[in-house]
Amino acid sequence: MSMEAGISEVKKALTTLLNDNPIIFLDYDGTLVPIQPDADAATADTELLDLLKKLDSAYNLWIVTGRSLESISGFIGTDFNIVGLHGLVVRPKNGETSVNPLFEQYRPAFSLIMEEENEIRKRFPGVVIKDKGGAVSFSLWGMKESDVRGLEKFLMDESVRLKLDFYPGVKIYELRIPGINKGMAIQGIRKERPAIIIGDDLTDEDAFSVNPDAITVKVGTGDTKAHFRVKDFHSVREILRFIASQKPDTS
Ligand SMILES: [Mg+2]
Repeated sequence: MSMEAGISEVKKALTTLLNDNPIIFLDYDGTLVPIQPDADAATADTELLDLLKKLDSAYNLWIVTGRSLESISGFIGTDFNIVGLHGLVVRPKNGETSVNPLFEQYRPAFSLIMEEENEIRKRFPGVVIKDKGGAVSFSLWGMKESDVRGLEKFLMDESVRLKLDFYPGVKIYELRIPGINKGMAIQGIRKERPAIIIGDDLTDEDAFSVNPDAITVKVGTGDTKAHFRVKDFHSVREILRFIASQKPDTS
């Protein structure tokens, strides 16, 4: 299916589903906003915030991100349901934050990596290392292409040594807690309810494959298990505007 066909195919699939009050799960970076070399620059514009508010008032909406709750709240505030750190933390908009118990169990492994931070940066110039609490990320934007393979090999070895998962993302690598992923988190929230899941990254593939009965939409190029594919965040917004237009604004 061509990407241009993607939007209308998704709309067609949604027409029947929207009557069943589906839960909407949206990734943030690369899905709602363009991916930024500087992760702190991925701000939400007014158009997006208005759209999210509209969707949130008419449907059960969740933002599902690899970011920490603090980081995502900096962009969209605290008025939305959030799954953070790829499923490790869940914060309903009117409820208590719950943290998966594995968080504490794996902190020592992440601390060990952060103790090596300077050494890793010396060995792989340009890499930006962030301790996200339940994961450590390595941004590749500042790195020479020729150094990336070396870093990948190093992190794969580290993942074996520390019993962590190695995730290659878009211009980013992460070491993560095994068994925690967006797919399990989404399944826990939706149970059997109909759902729409949209995302652009490898981490969203977990969401697609664990929830094969949902309407799943991959943003951008690359292999996917999603049922549909659209081009970029502009396409996603068109789909979201369509969804919002199908229900009267109850706010
Ligand atoms: Mg993304």
